[in-house]
Amino acid sequence: MSSTITISSRGEQRLRAGHPWIYRTDLGEVSAGAGDIVQVRNIKGRVLGSALYSDRSQIAIRMLTYGERPADDALIAARIDAAIGFRDSLGIDGTAYRLVHGEADLLPSLIVDRYGEYLVVQALSQGMDRLLPVIVRVLGERLNPRGILARNDPRARLLDGLPQTVDVLAGAIPDSVTVHECGIEYDVDLRHGQKTGLFLDQRENREAAARYARGRVLDCFSYNGGFALKLAAVAQETIAFDISEDAVARVRANAERNGLTVDARVGNVFDELRGLDRLKERFDTIVLDPPAFAKTKSAVDKATTGYKEINLRALKLLNPGGMLVTCSCSYHISEGAFAQIVYEAALDAETHVTVVEKRMQGRDHPVLLGVPETYYLKCFIVRKLG
Ligand code: SAH
Repeated sequence: MSSTITISSRGEQRLRAGHPWIYRTDLGEVSAGAGDIVQVRNIKGRVLGSALYSDRSQIAIRMLTYGERPADDALIAARIDAAIGFRDSLGIDGTAYRLVHGEADLLPSLIVDRYGEYLVVQALSQGMDRLLPVIVRVLGERLNPRGILARNDPRARLLDGLPQTVDVLAGAIPDSVTVHECGIEYDVDLRHGQKTGLFLDQRENREAAARYARGRVLDCFSYNGGFALKLAAVAQETIAFDISEDAVARVRANAERNGLTVDARVGNVFDELRGLDRLKERFDTIVLDPPAFAKTKSAVDKATTGYKEINLRALKLLNPGGMLVTCSCSYHISEGAFAQIVYEAALDAETHVTVVEKRMQGRDHPVLLGVPETYYLKCFIVRKLG
């Protein structure tokens, strides 16, 4: 017998508003096992659609289809085809980009990133984990990659009772893969790099930043040098800071490989910004791309203080007319809240700033309206007035 779940009318309302998640508190009768594809019914017994079921996570249901349309292998293949087709149409200047962005490609809890001839997948729910063989087969048929790696090590998997693992699912994955993005070449370690290797969501913001960058550039939270390398080509001098020695070593190696000069230093940005101010150093362009300070709702207050602190310090270090590229990838800090933080930082820095561009994650990471969780990265390009 096929698996079925009845959901409450509150759950049904949420579903009608376009959100694919149903929380455990909205479940009625459950006749399903961990990771099953289930038929979802309302309290009157009407079929609402098919979904992935988790017996552990608070997100108990992730909708795949609505109405009677079956959620079978052909549906998964069609969704992957649509996702690949959309990325093909974007004309992305690079060989590394996101092919499948979970909910926004109607493949909830699935990430697929492309790094040249290699693919990296993440299955972040019991149901998607079980579908991996189908996904690997379809990706293999469509793209013929040299290797597919599962970076199934995000903490989110623990919430679903899944192990944190890194496995080669097809072909072979070398220790280092070379990709290019907007004219810059990178060596990427797909097994150990942060996220799936690179911060692909910032590609278009790096390009945008390069349109304004000039003079002395400071890249804070540089990781492998995404912003620093792109900006070094137009800057007089580029300094980059990251707390990770490994990341800084990669900035140096990537700079050399691209024939660029970046002064990459290991340091805690909070301390370094203060230190630079004490030394009366000034910059014309500053990038702030910190990790998500607010990983949970309860961390928002502390995160707000952190964001404000670095924005205030950066605005003080900027010359009049200088540009600040400031980012937040905390979903829990809304665009409005982030604008307020930057505004308060400007007040405390006793300056005025104009917002020149409000940006988000790149087009290969689109936002599904009605699902605020898919809009996480905010990037403001602001100009310090004289
Ligand atoms: N700008 C990068 C991505 C940054 S990710 C890009 O375009 O690719 C955030 C980075 O911040 C990580 O590399 C992490 O090592 C670093 N980091 C975290 N806390 C830090 C701190 N207090 N000071 C400096 N770097 C920090």
